[in-house]
Amino acid sequence: MDKRTLDKIRQVPVTDVAEHLGITLYGMGKENKRCRCIFHDDRHPSMHLNTKRNIFKCFACGKGGDVITLVMQQKGCDFQEACRWLTQEFCVVPPLTENENHPTEPASFLAPKLVAQSLSTKSVFCQSLVSKSILTEKQMLMAASRYRLGISRDGGVVFWQIDCMQHVRDGKIMFYKSDCHRDHSRVPTWVSYRLKRSGVLQPLWEPCHCLFGLHLLKPETDGTWPVVAVVESEKTAVICSALFPQYVWVSTGGMSSLTPELLAPLRCCRVVLFPDTDLERTTFRQWSLIADRASVGFRYHIYVSPLLEEKASTAQKERKIDIADFMFENGFMSSPI
Ligand SMILES: [Zn+2]
Repeated sequence: MDKRTLDKIRQVPVTDVAEHLGITLYGMGKENKRCRCIFHDDRHPSMHLNTKRNIFKCFACGKGGDVITLVMQQKGCDFQEACRWLTQEFCVVPPLTENENHPTEPASFLAPKLVAQSLSTKSVFCQSLVSKSILTEKQMLMAASRYRLGISRDGGVVFWQIDCMQHVRDGKIMFYKSDCHRDHSRVPTWVSYRLKRSGVLQPLWEPCHCLFGLHLLKPETDGTWPVVAVVESEKTAVICSALFPQYVWVSTGGMSSLTPELLAPLRCCRVVLFPDTDLERTTFRQWSLIADRASVGFRYHIYVSPLLEEKASTAQKERKIDIADFMFENGFMSSPI
């Protein structure tokens, strides 16, 4: 393992690691926490965790170290195993080296230049967000840049699926009308499908889809992970990201597209699902089941927001509204989380 990756592993917050290992922490101070020493039988919490230097030390026996030492001692494993565990449990992403910034794209990813060439806010989708007063011009521009929204040759909006490693998995092309509702006379399609048809991609090329907006997932400068809100439609993610920028909004691209595998990259984060509502609570129930299954191996249990089930009217449920519809129709603009 190279030094830069090790440095990243050593930056995983020591208090997070201790808690994840089941160690009870004491002390209300922000910088210093205490716990019972992990090296000996300790009646009082003698071990101090220094969040600033991200190390720990016992003031009774003098032993201490960094997060890797902590894992080795607590799990009784070797250095390599401790690093592997930290990498997996805390989604440590190895830093890019110089030449990795421009990798030759593996067959399963699309060329980043496709995204760059497509960038535009001229699609009917982007324009109608503003003309229908859903977002201000500035909010729309920021949202378009955040999600790298593109335009297809035939005027559709391109919702790129870019993963947390910034690999372009695919792009979904959708068509909207000037009232910002879907143009159902035009069938949505995939960029990969069009590239295959035009011979740019091999017929056997298989896309590996991911959550829309996944590229926005990165730890804060203090090492903590953002709260992630999962919605069904790309449009809702785009709108909510402008209204509630404190969360990372991602979309599954459809009610039945939600799977535990799709949620797997979110395992370090607090995750809230916002299923669309309906009279029979079908989506709510379905997403709750998937949340339970997906939560295995997650740091926090995935929460399914009952907000729409509790607050939406029967008429709204009949129309199967989503969280963004509800916000606008009910004038409810406080944070949904
Ligand atoms: Zn000790």
